[in-house]
Amino acid sequence: MSKLGFIQENIEGLKAEGTYRKLPVNFGPCTNVINLNGHKVVNLSSNNYLGLANHPRLLKAAVSATEKYGVGAGSVRTIVGNQDLLEELEVILAKFKEEEAVTCFQSGLNCNIGTIQAIVSKEDLILSDELNHASIIDGIRLSRADKAIYRHSDMEHLEAILKEKRSLYRNVLIITDGVFSMDGDLAKLPEIVSIAKKYDCLTYVDDAHGSGVLGRGGRGTVDHFGLNGEIDFIIGTLSKAIGVIGGYVASKQVVKEWLLHRARPLLFSTALPPAATAATIEAVKILMESEKYTHKLWDNAKHFKAGLTKLGFDIGKSETPITPVMIGEEAKTMEFSRILLEEGVFVSGIVFPTVPQGAGRCRVMISASHTQEDLDFALRAFEKVGKKLKII
Ligand SMILES: *Cc1c(COP(=O)(O)O)cnc(C)c1O
Repeated sequence: MSKLGFIQENIEGLKAEGTYRKLPVNFGPCTNVINLNGHKVVNLSSNNYLGLANHPRLLKAAVSATEKYGVGAGSVRTIVGNQDLLEELEVILAKFKEEEAVTCFQSGLNCNIGTIQAIVSKEDLILSDELNHASIIDGIRLSRADKAIYRHSDMEHLEAILKEKRSLYRNVLIITDGVFSMDGDLAKLPEIVSIAKKYDCLTYVDDAHGSGVLGRGGRGTVDHFGLNGEIDFIIGTLSKAIGVIGGYVASKQVVKEWLLHRARPLLFSTALPPAATAATIEAVKILMESEKYTHKLWDNAKHFKAGLTKLGFDIGKSETPITPVMIGEEAKTMEFSRILLEEGVFVSGIVFPTVPQGAGRCRVMISASHTQEDLDFALRAFEKVGKKLKII
């Protein structure tokens, strides 16, 4: 057998269990209707919540920054990659978030991996919600701190662990998603903040799905709960509602100064390209000028969720535009998604191991870019396929 035969065997394993897949190809921008594998379909699966990924103002900003600054930053930030555009972005983002300072990374994943490692050490404990995002899990693994996982949003469990372990560690860092990406529910931030005060813990909220979506003008989950200034590390992504690419930490200035010295993605990986940075600045300006896009997003989400509920679908415990349509069995979930695609609607099926066994769902992601016709077309397809598979 060849040296790489073990990889071929793994792939055969995927094929045998029915989880092998080919990547779908999108032949154009990420918009409400896309050309997926050569077929026009309503796109209910992007994180482009506000429709900014293809917004004319962002395009224009990206093109003019490219003409002025080139296509690449040319180096890591700590050498010559720290273009003035990046500094400008950090200032405007801090103003938007109403926090002291912002530090930008190349992606949300990079941001978690770099930040968690930089702020904890061997003498520390991390407490992490069991449903936290994979990039948090990886960040925790790369840090040298001990970890304990608390049951999803279970505050009694969180407190029980603290009662037992708080005194054994120097710092304890509680990490949670702001919005949980598979169910669309919110973290219990007010309770987490008060527990953190009681046990003298640091708090870290990854608000990838909340920034641009929740709070005043999309200022995020922390703002939604009125907890501005109370969370030590607020992570946001520039790749979802903002429509471009990148991640950031909003924090006190002292955190920023430390990250610029110790966060490994800033030291060892090239800075964001100027086009992305300039487009992001434009996106933040748009959010600061008007709540038009966030309002449209929520109007669309309410319309679609009401439609699904009326048809008799179970949409779980979502409190956000992330709408899981609960199907249950893995094979049926994938079949639902496949037939919907034939009907002209793309919704990804999500099954074990991403979610627990038997909790398969088709996860609908609503965007401000959807028109009423897109959503009603999709609801008709859901009705047809739901009846066919006896889900409603
Ligand atoms: C999507 C996501 C990330 C990763 O963000 P990217 O900018 O796409 O790398 C990190 N954390 C959470 C909670 C996410 O949902």
